[in-house]
Amino acid sequence: MIQVVASGAAGRMGQAVCEAVDDAEGMELVAKADPSLGVELADALAGADVVVDFSTPETALANVRACLEAGVHVVVGTTGFDLEAARAAAESASANCFVAPNFAIGAVLLMEAAQLAARHMPECEIVELHHDRKLDAPSGTAKRTAELIEAAGGNVHEPIHSVRLPGLVAHQEVIFGGEGQTLTIRHDSIDRRSFMPGVLLAVRAVGNLPDRFTVGLEKLL
Ligand code: NAP
Repeated sequence: MIQVVASGAAGRMGQAVCEAVDDAEGMELVAKADPSLGVELADALAGADVVVDFSTPETALANVRACLEAGVHVVVGTTGFDLEAARAAAESASANCFVAPNFAIGAVLLMEAAQLAARHMPECEIVELHHDRKLDAPSGTAKRTAELIEAAGGNVHEPIHSVRLPGLVAHQEVIFGGEGQTLTIRHDSIDRRSFMPGVLLAVRAVGNLPDRFTVGLEKLL
């Protein structure tokens, strides 16, 4: 049994993680860490195998460091924090850190399709749309998509467009423009359960990854 701690357990994503881990085979939810539950992550690490962190941009790096210093693998979904600092912390650690800006398979497929399109229609713009309580902009998914498109030879026009409205969950479009034509690739997460198969996959995989620090769900597929 993989002993799992949910960090940010009282949040929108954290609650979905707790339900998913509870329902999953081969893992057990052993603690819920969140200031609003009165449980500090540092006090919940004893006996844990994997922490799943969906907290805030301000707290994610400290949480990653606390897990790695305690020798506990960490799966991070929080966006908008310093990834290079997390990488540096992981490189000298005795546990692994896996980060995915988006755990939804459809969003990963969007990124793959966008890299293919960029090779033939390089000029593009990204529009990301999220619920109005999202703290960071542009989204981690949009920044990762832009990096991958640029690496594939595309030209992502600035700025990335960020829409924040009630009623939205997590959505993204990449619009490619060429001579007399456009191509739009769009993904919609309409329920937070869309992220859970990816989270569970990462919980199962993080302890066996070849590198201390890994970014992107595509590395596990
Ligand atoms: P949320 O509802 O605001 O939840 C965040 C939770 O973290 C809150 O309960 C917050 O408590 C708690 N928290 C604050 N400080 C903490 C600490 N030091 N340790 C542990 N927990 C702490 O936010 P959300 O909508 O669930 O999103 C969480 C993060 O996941 C965001 O960065 C979001 O962009 C990201 N996200 C990623 C994916 C993905 O696929 N990778 C998908 C969706 C969302 P208080 O309210 O008391 O501060």
